[in-house]
Amino acid sequence: MVTIRDIRVILTRPMGRNLVVVKVETSEPELYGLGCATFTQRYRAVVSAVVDDLKPLLIGRDVSRIEELWRLMMFNGYWRGGPVLNNAVGGVDMALWDIKAKVACLPLVDLLGGKVREAAAVYQHADGRDHAELDDHIEDLLGQNIRHVRVRLGGGAAQTRASGEAGGMAYGGVGAVTPPPDGALAGAYFDPSTYARSTLGALEHVRDRFGDGIELLHDVHERLNPVQALGFARDVERFRLFFLEDPLALEQIGWHERLRAATTTPIAASELFTQPSEWLPLVSGRLIDFLRMHLSHLGGLTPARKAAVTAESFGVRTAWHGPGDCSPVGHAVGLHLELASPNFGLHELQPFVDAAPEVFPGCPELRDGYLYPSNLPGHGVDLDEKLAAKYPVEPSVVAWTQSRLPDGTLSPP
Ligand code: MG
Repeated sequence: MVTIRDIRVILTRPMGRNLVVVKVETSEPELYGLGCATFTQRYRAVVSAVVDDLKPLLIGRDVSRIEELWRLMMFNGYWRGGPVLNNAVGGVDMALWDIKAKVACLPLVDLLGGKVREAAAVYQHADGRDHAELDDHIEDLLGQNIRHVRVRLGGGAAQTRASGEAGGMAYGGVGAVTPPPDGALAGAYFDPSTYARSTLGALEHVRDRFGDGIELLHDVHERLNPVQALGFARDVERFRLFFLEDPLALEQIGWHERLRAATTTPIAASELFTQPSEWLPLVSGRLIDFLRMHLSHLGGLTPARKAAVTAESFGVRTAWHGPGDCSPVGHAVGLHLELASPNFGLHELQPFVDAAPEVFPGCPELRDGYLYPSNLPGHGVDLDEKLAAKYPVEPSVVAWTQSRLPDGTLSPP
């Protein structure tokens, strides 16, 4: 029997975001697995959950019993779920799948039923402060044969208001905002109405300029109230989006039935979900078109595999959350699942830049708009720990999530 000998957490920042990788070492020399446990905004809490709680629970146990161990990790603390624990469990879970595939000498996709496609189509983000910048960004992506583009206006332009140090990046083309009241607190201010108007203008411009040979996406990022979201989803119908992402805030998912009735715009939700009770009603009610959960925040490959299979029965596709704060290990695990899922839709990718390919040998490879895994056993991504140590994580207070409406009220980020 191969058992768990040690569990370690490696923190690194090779491309400007704090990443958390879990390494499960076994009783067999040289046999180990890697998993992504990146909750970049609360990475220290995840480290503690892995090292202080899960490690003592798991040492000496049989690595082959993934489902048993997933349930053990989840039930052991009695209270379960939530992004901190899910990431800790998810990191170990992915590492156990990596080990199982290495023992079998197979790429992970072959444990999941085998390939139904050779590679996964990706989408990347294009943003700009104005239409000209947006055009340049899109042309650059089209030049790389990226055919699915998420369009955003205004990204990167700081809209810091008021006093203090809590300013940050405003999301989504906010333009001029109403001045906040005297004494308003610092934050990333935005105006939902201005955002909606400027985004409609940008989508119209892009569709006119680039025609139908490009798939357009847009992420509302919870920036509208429910009835604004319904109107916006209807307004963008004429731009024929591939999908509209997170038009409703996590707290307002009860509006999805009305949203579905209001528009034929394909809907993607929600990267913030952490448990089946959130996604299951939307899938079984056929209220959304794409599942967007983040694999490590969901608890790893074990629950994601079940979600993908369930969604297939209801005609819902997957487009797992894939931002820059998902390590190449997390992207690779998602990719293997996508290659085995008939109902895969699209892979969100922020390219592996800077030192990431060297720190993570075996990174999935992007070619002409498709992402390919390495063909090594397991998920195929390794970690150069010595090199990773040269890019230490940086603690900071998160600023961009301090979003505020024009009158200074905190809003979902
Ligand atoms: Mg999103």
